[in-house]
Amino acid sequence: MAEEAEKEITTFEDFKLNKQLLNAIAEAGYEKPTPIQLQAIPLIMAGHDILGIAQTGTGKTAAFLLPLLMKVKYAQGQHPRALIIAPTRELVMQIEENITLLAKYTDIRHTAIYGGLGPKTQIENISKGLDILVSTPKRLMELYFRGDLILKDLKTLILDEADKMMDMGFMPQIRQLLEVIPRKRQNLLFSATMPDKVVQLSEEFLEFPTRVEITPQATPVETVSQTLYRVPNLRTKIELLEHLIQDNETFNRVIIFTRSKKNAESVSKFLEHRDYGEVRAIHGNKGQNTRINSMEAFKGGEVRFLVATDVAARGIDVTMVSHVINFDVPLIYEDYVHRIGRTGRAENEGAAITFATEAEMYHVHKIEKIIRMQIPEVPMPADVKVFETPFEEQQEMAMEIDRQKRRENPDFKGAFHEKKGKHKSNFAKGKKGKGDPKNSFWQKTKKKGSRKK
Ligand code: AMP
Repeated sequence: MAEEAEKEITTFEDFKLNKQLLNAIAEAGYEKPTPIQLQAIPLIMAGHDILGIAQTGTGKTAAFLLPLLMKVKYAQGQHPRALIIAPTRELVMQIEENITLLAKYTDIRHTAIYGGLGPKTQIENISKGLDILVSTPKRLMELYFRGDLILKDLKTLILDEADKMMDMGFMPQIRQLLEVIPRKRQNLLFSATMPDKVVQLSEEFLEFPTRVEITPQATPVETVSQTLYRVPNLRTKIELLEHLIQDNETFNRVIIFTRSKKNAESVSKFLEHRDYGEVRAIHGNKGQNTRINSMEAFKGGEVRFLVATDVAARGIDVTMVSHVINFDVPLIYEDYVHRIGRTGRAENEGAAITFATEAEMYHVHKIEKIIRMQIPEVPMPADVKVFETPFEEQQEMAMEIDRQKRRENPDFKGAFHEKKGKHKSNFAKGKKGKGDPKNSFWQKTKKKGSRKK
């Protein structure tokens, strides 16, 4: 399927991205490109129009942003050279956050505009000059017709979640836009599904597009038993983990997956501290040699726990893994399939256990769609102590849930809708403050003495 020339590409370096981008990628914790990134990035960089069929959770945003940032390169001129349109304010903000993350070491200027609030600040931001604009369709055309936005320098147009855009009735705005922007440009269209309306749009909008499609992975290996625990918070996740691994006969070779390097470090430190057996952590911050040594030790059976982030664990070929524990639910949904494929290899029965907070259940449901089955849920064991969720963690989760609901239904007014100032500062900047519940929890845990066996 893949062409000769594409075979070689496995890392972000292989895309020949510039140093600024590679540094930002490393800092974001992306260790390897996802399948959509592997397919789409070289094509976009070569200047093709793309029709991308991929759902959220596949890494599609970075798949179009990285080549875009390569193309835009640096601050230049007054008017935007690239425009990204997305159906909802939430999605626009999310894309903008991704740009902030990935364009961190460049001087590229970007801003997000959307409805629901007055345009004054947005107009001011535009008038300062910018390279990339992210917008919802309506606000975009409003500002254009007021004369606040000049689109004559556009070289790239990206439509994200085109199916949702059509569902929400934005076709008239898209048509107006296509009338007024330069004809010679690169176009990218991303959509999770391809209903007729999107097919029609793609025909109007794209020139000789290359289709890039990420088809959901097959159902996980049948020899793996899957279970799901609903766990209210981080503190209780640790309790549950500790409870499960008391059974050291059954849980004899365990891979624990976390979403971030930070959590991988924290969980492995916790286990080391409590002395439940040999532990190794593998993630992007560990050197290649350390990773290889850890893996060998785990393979050899000298290590009971391997704590890993997803990409660090790709390609691990270890048999006899008794359990895979998903301490965090993966955001790249197909990683779930990769994760649980680590256990139950080659006739060995395996078990995959997933811990999910209420906020993570959204992702669990998306994963269930991909694997085309429900992950059987089991109640928390009675003797696992369930902790109250600390206020900040609770807020963080409530915000996350609001965000998910708004993604699904843009008219949803979440509990955090009113508190704009507060909401934005925590979340638009993506910063972890001192009061980060995770930080404070781990700090407390470390100080605690040893616990019942
Ligand atoms: P998206 O499908 O664009 O909504 O991305 C889903 C999540 O995956 C986001 O949280 C991204 O930050 C993250 N992500 C994107 N690319 C990668 C990658 N190569 N490795 C790990 N995480 C990624």
